[in-house]
Parts: sequence; C-alpha cells; structure tokens
Amino acid sequence: MFICAACGKVTRGKRRHAITCGAACRVRLHRHPELREHLASDSRLTGLSVADLLERRAFKAAYPDLAERIGANEINIEAARLEAFKRSLHDLYQRLKRRAPAA
Ligand SMILES: [Zn+2]
Repeated sequence: MFICAACGKVTRGKRRHAITCGAACRVRLHRHPELREHLASDSRLTGLSVADLLERRAFKAAYPDLAERIGANEINIEAARLEAFKRSLHDLYQRLKRRAPAA
C-alpha cells in the first residue's frame, strides 16, 4: 500500500517499490520533473527511500493510528504492514459474512 506519486491516491501495488498506480501516472510523473524533485527532497530530509516515504504516507491516510505508532517508534514498518494486512483480512471476512445467506 502506498500513495501514488503522481495522483496522490492510496494504491495497493502489485510490484514492490512501485511509486505510481499505473502506466498513465508513470507517464505523468515522467513529464513532471518538479513532482520527482519534490519527492527526492522529502526522501533526503526523512532518510527514507521514495517508496518507503509513499508507503508511510498511505499508512497516515488509511491508518492514522498506525502512522502515529510508527512515528513514536512503537512499531516498525514491517509490524505496521502486518497489522494493516490483518485488518484488511478482518474487513474482508466481515463483508463476506454479511453477504452469506442466513441458514
Ligand atoms: Zn496514480
């Protein structure tokens, strides 16, 4: 999960270290060097890779509590990924349960 570097939407990536949600945004990012420079500057400031930076921003948007715990060094990004995955499985289970016909 990460924030697309071109459109800013929370995206679930198929590729590891992807920074855009698809081909259109990849082209858009390529045509806007100011977007890349801004990201590179934030990356230098935080000491995070661009992909990690965008992942952290997505956590902030989707799971503000997890982002806060990362910021406070209570959990690391791996633990946050695992927790986010558990929550998405739980949500999926709840949605499926609601759809199941009552016996
Ligand atoms: Zn995008």
